[in-house]
Amino acid sequence: MIERARQAGLALQATFENEFTLARRDGERYVPIDRSPCFSTIGMDSATPVMIDVIDALIAQGVYPEQYYAELGPGQQELPVRFTDALRAADNQVTMRDTVRGVALTYGLLASFAPKPFPDEAGNGSHIHFSLWRIKDGKNHFHDPRGRHGLSDAGRAFIGGVLAHLPALVALTAPSVNSYRRLQPRFWSSAYTAWGPDNREAAVRVPSTRRGLEMESTNLELKPCDPSSNPYLALGGLLAAGLDGMARTVDPGEPTLVDPDTLSDAERARRGIRRLPTSLGEALDALERDEMLRASLGEMLGKEYLTVKRSEVRGFEGKDVAFEIAQHFYKY
Ligand code: GLU
Ligand code: MG
Repeated sequence: MIERARQAGLALQATFENEFTLARRDGERYVPIDRSPCFSTIGMDSATPVMIDVIDALIAQGVYPEQYYAELGPGQQELPVRFTDALRAADNQVTMRDTVRGVALTYGLLASFAPKPFPDEAGNGSHIHFSLWRIKDGKNHFHDPRGRHGLSDAGRAFIGGVLAHLPALVALTAPSVNSYRRLQPRFWSSAYTAWGPDNREAAVRVPSTRRGLEMESTNLELKPCDPSSNPYLALGGLLAAGLDGMARTVDPGEPTLVDPDTLSDAERARRGIRRLPTSLGEALDALERDEMLRASLGEMLGKEYLTVKRSEVRGFEGKDVAFEIAQHFYKY
């Protein structure tokens, strides 16, 4: 997909905005390290020693954290790292997950990147922040100072492509049974194929740019991505969907400024907003029907991916929530 973009004179820059849960052993089970309120210094106090070591270890490996804070959920942390070219961004994601887990272990803690570690609490996302750059003049292809929300026509069409393919794309970006417990309204993770400026309930958010750095900082954010995803497939699928949108000049429709869950069914239908799949099985059905994404994966990978993931779905049939959570909590 990187090569496909290069042939169009473009290069993707990206990063994953990771969230994860720090937990400690309590008898047979793990419990979050704290019950701190959202974004609180109390949460930072309990996690700071381990987080300082995580940050040092990442910097030593050339992965640069940009900010750190204690997130909404109990024991939940957020640590976004600096964007880079697409392949390196995927490599960094692997480094990031292993480094966080490894450093946590030295404190006797378990770091979990499970999409929904506790059923009623905030999930762990790894929103993809991305922008597309022109190779010939080094400019941000998503940016147009005269465009609405500072977006170029290409940026709008890229969003259009992502939204058109999103029910199938989430089979790659939210690829676990547990992922669909996360993709619910009012958890800032998105649940509908909507987009909007600074809309935290939209699947594609257009974040505000930095004053004086509008061209440089224009980027898009894909929310329905979680850290149980294979970052190579997630970024490849995202790029395939966006490039397809640009090739077909897909209109993303009007931006949504409210939580799309608060709109009536009729209003959502009028705007072309669809509910995202509510289970991995549904997402796999959508991927199976999406010829462009399957062709982009290639015949063998597309077929094998569906086979392996379908067997995973079967492995959870008839099992309860506790089983599902435990399987993901420890594996990711
Ligand atoms: N925890 C949210 C999620 O599951 C994201 C929160 C945020 O916007 O950083 O995607
Ligand atoms: Mg967050």
